[in-house]
Amino acid sequence: MKLINPATNQTIREIEEDTKSQITEKYQRALQAQPQWARIPLDHRLGIMDKFRELLLQEVTPLAKDLSQEMGKPVPEAVNEIKGACKRISFFIGEAKKWLDLKEVNIDGNTQEVLAHDPLGVIANISAWNYPYLVGVNVFIPALLAGNAVLYKPSEFATLTGLHIARLLYQAGVPKDVFHCVVGAKDAGECLLELPLAGYFFTGSYKTGQYIAERVAPKLVPVGLELGGKDPLYVTDDVANLDQVAEAVVEGCFYNNGQSCCAVERVYVHEKVYDSFIELMTEKTKKLNVGDPALEGINQGAITRSVHLDFLDSQIKDATAKGAKVLVGGERIKTSGSYFSPTLLTNVNHQMNLMTEESFGPIRGIMKVSSDEEAIKLMNDTEYGLTASVYSANIERAKKILEQVDTGTAYINCCDRVSPYLPWSGRKNSGLGSTLSFHGILAFTKPRGWHIRK
Ligand code: NAD
Repeated sequence: MKLINPATNQTIREIEEDTKSQITEKYQRALQAQPQWARIPLDHRLGIMDKFRELLLQEVTPLAKDLSQEMGKPVPEAVNEIKGACKRISFFIGEAKKWLDLKEVNIDGNTQEVLAHDPLGVIANISAWNYPYLVGVNVFIPALLAGNAVLYKPSEFATLTGLHIARLLYQAGVPKDVFHCVVGAKDAGECLLELPLAGYFFTGSYKTGQYIAERVAPKLVPVGLELGGKDPLYVTDDVANLDQVAEAVVEGCFYNNGQSCCAVERVYVHEKVYDSFIELMTEKTKKLNVGDPALEGINQGAITRSVHLDFLDSQIKDATAKGAKVLVGGERIKTSGSYFSPTLLTNVNHQMNLMTEESFGPIRGIMKVSSDEEAIKLMNDTEYGLTASVYSANIERAKKILEQVDTGTAYINCCDRVSPYLPWSGRKNSGLGSTLSFHGILAFTKPRGWHIRK
């Protein structure tokens, strides 16, 4: 397997994909090792995860460089991602005991009733490339804390990161057989689906997630799916500072080159502020600095998967053929790497793929609306339900709008943010189950009720 730097399209390294028999062997070893890992006191596992967090921080600079190289994000954003992942680890460390420790929930006469959360066993974590540290820790940290063994398959576009994660977990004290990095792409993922694992936790596209859920359904084991989105944002007519809102919306649209599951993918603007907002968006989008993510001052790096450039072209072609107007950008940047100019389109509507299919790149449509009712209808006109955002000086108005939108995450006067304290849970085609918060700790356990008569 060739690891390619999307900033140059040069090969970084060639690496052997794991074969079916190697993956089966990793599974066998994990199966042997898991019960012993689960018997270790939770405090000990907490200490190991804290050590892992420290190691990530110690190595943040070289880790960020490798992440930037294989995935194309600017180095400072890679640093932010690793530091963000460390904060999530701290969250899990702080919360784990509260949720995983045995709890006496009732005494019935001489019978003590105790709630326990047992680990699932050996689970698969099939992961995505856009935030490999963040989406990885969402799964393997709580899974390991709960006493599971993990077969972690990083995306083929984040293999170096996956190997670093395994190395640092071992260095922190996780036994080698408890956590395995499965190296490879689709075929390696398919091998995991064939094994009798105790749970499948997937982050990636709806298409692959739905396929995995169907494939493993007969096993009757837990499946967690964190999938894509077509996240809407609505700017009402009463916002106090339109300039600040435009600043936040540009960031929400284009951070990580728009390759975020919770990126703002569609923008609706009330007609009363539409013209001024478009002017501000145009000015701010033009200021974005596209280029080699290894260089300073760049905030738009390379597009991770070069084949995706064709997809972005096709969305723009479809939209313009149906009457959309390109306001900024609109095309790939011709260099040896994979770059696309940050793009805004107006005159858009929901007959265009741009407004219904996840773009997962730096192209966005902005649509004028004349009322909150129209905005609500359009925001709900999607197969996805990951996040939705409303900007308004009136919190009650924003709340009332968002209560009518079918979304796992609702943002008022903010967007494109994730907190470990809240569940990350997509609705409709955006996913199944939840990571983060206490939901994302218990997701890796099975409950057991103890009835202890003395
Ligand atoms: P993808 O579906 O192409 O791949 C995801 C993972 O699945 C990779 O590791 C890949 O090798 C593996 N895979 C592919 N085919 C497989 C198969 N047949 N069997 C088993 N495994 C298989 O997605 P991607 O391009 O890596 O990620 C982008 C998508 O992920 C976007 O849709 C994005 O919105 C979504 N995403 C969602 C979240 C979230 O938290 N909801 C977070 C990050 C990314």
